[in-house]
Amino acid sequence: MAIYQIVKKGDSILRENARVVKEITPNIIKLLDNMQDTMYAANGVGLAAPQIGISKRVIIVDTGDELLELINPEVLMSEGEQTDTEGCLSVPGLVGDVTRAYKVKVRALNRAGNEIEITGEEITARALQHEIDHLDGVLFIDKAENIKTVE
Ligand code: ZN
Repeated sequence: MAIYQIVKKGDSILRENARVVKEITPNIIKLLDNMQDTMYAANGVGLAAPQIGISKRVIIVDTGDELLELINPEVLMSEGEQTDTEGCLSVPGLVGDVTRAYKVKVRALNRAGNEIEITGEEITARALQHEIDHLDGVLFIDKAENIKTVE
């Protein structure tokens, strides 16, 4: 397990379409473990693999209830709308208001290689959408209004 340096805005990997994971290898398990260490060390609620320099479709989210580890996540359904302030570990010093779906259903593989479906609301739905955006090279500042600097 290791804590990685988080890739910052300006690095082209954050603008790439991350690659689909074809097989759950020991390297993918190690990636999930390292992402977990890195996210908790940075006090984040979510992290996408490109943020530690790995262009693969892997995200983790923990908004306080449980750790979600999602490989090749796909949004199956989104519902409603919410607007709230958002930031990103890769975009330090900026926050902005982002409108997203209130609820999403996501299908993915877990670390055992099993297909799972997760439904999240509010902050969990927000974090899932934010992290999945990272896999498509999208940053919250692309969608945010009222962008402000913070300490
Ligand atoms: Zn982010």
